[in-house]
Amino acid sequence: MDDILQNTFDNYTQFVNPGLAQLMKFAGFGVEVRAEGMYVYDDKGNAFMDFLGGYGVFALGHCHPKVIQAVKAQLDLMPLSSKVFFNALVGEFCAMIASVMPGDLQYSFLCNSGTEAVEAAIKIARKYTGRHKFIATVGGFHGKSMGALSATGREQYKADFLPMVPGFEHVPFNDIDAVSGIIGDDTAGVIVEVVQGEGGINVASPDYLPALKEICQKAGALLIVDEVQTGFGRTGKMFAVNHTGVVPDIMTIAKALGGGVVPSGAMVSSERVWKRVFGDNPLIHTSTFGGNPLACVAGMATIKAIHDENLCQNSEERGLQLLTGLKKIQAKYPEVLTEIRGIGLMIGIQFEMEDVAKLVMSGLNHRGIIAAYTLNNPSVVRMEPALIITSDQVNTLLKSFDESVDEAYSGLKSLGLL
Ligand code: PLP
Repeated sequence: MDDILQNTFDNYTQFVNPGLAQLMKFAGFGVEVRAEGMYVYDDKGNAFMDFLGGYGVFALGHCHPKVIQAVKAQLDLMPLSSKVFFNALVGEFCAMIASVMPGDLQYSFLCNSGTEAVEAAIKIARKYTGRHKFIATVGGFHGKSMGALSATGREQYKADFLPMVPGFEHVPFNDIDAVSGIIGDDTAGVIVEVVQGEGGINVASPDYLPALKEICQKAGALLIVDEVQTGFGRTGKMFAVNHTGVVPDIMTIAKALGGGVVPSGAMVSSERVWKRVFGDNPLIHTSTFGGNPLACVAGMATIKAIHDENLCQNSEERGLQLLTGLKKIQAKYPEVLTEIRGIGLMIGIQFEMEDVAKLVMSGLNHRGIIAAYTLNNPSVVRMEPALIITSDQVNTLLKSFDESVDEAYSGLKSLGLL
């Protein structure tokens, strides 16, 4: 190991998280020092094409110049808010969020991360309905703070922290009957993703969201759609719900909202919900740093860039190119690759065996490509590159992926494991 890597590894081992230090060493990456567009550069100057995209953060790629410019200008003026004056940027940012939201979703609670947006959604649904039960999905991922973790559908992350927040029940994703079977007059909300990200890139069937909306309306419960990962063009439309025609009662957003430059999140809902929840106490739910000026200017520059650069369209077109190319490779290795699925630039590669997924990821890494598996489903490698990706860059990935699968496949065959 070179000096910088050794020092960083030692610091991680002593002061950050020893287990994480080992995991990252095993993955074989060095130390990141800068990034631009589709690329991350390590301390030795090696360039890596980023097909993980920060789990959905880098919709605009790294260091988008318009976002950087907006943030730099704001940094000199006023980076954080006094919190007592009106702040014009908060108003403008929330208005801009409302302008891209579906239907009557109009008011935003600004925060700093996905899990905070989900916590806000849970509290708001409780207060609005006066109920405390929630229905969530197996494999769903909503964050790791206590409320969001209670909604998350993977036992491994919860077992050591029991008891969870009471009232959460999990049903299989895409199973409408399972929801209608348990929803009742004590249900505050149903929380789902349109595409389960960490669950392994599972896309909702076309009738799922419309049916959930109807079931929720009948039961007087709120439909909460978590677009923390799917939002801002990731699936080929501004929001994944736009594919379904459904307007949720509450939507959570984060990740790409900060343009890959500033941490940012929001919980968005309608006037009807806001009046009942914040009407008698506007400070019932707050955040010190939420809606800070840097996040506001970054968010506005991001939404503008998505429009100006036609990134939803590019996401749809490049996503189709990537999906088609990966499916061709899958047809060559059906024993190791069982399914390619996804929508827009949110694509999952289902491996037959978790260990083969690891080998292929390592092959990709050696070829200068960043890829990772999904948190709740390690046999799925996800592809979530920036929406600015070019056709040539998609082809580079396809070539490297084909070579990496071939390498893993030949190795396993020679060992008699296939
Ligand atoms: N919701 C979804 C759908 C996510 O994918 C994530 C993170 O991956 C979260 C919530 C939590 O976001 P954060 O890590 O910013 O707290």
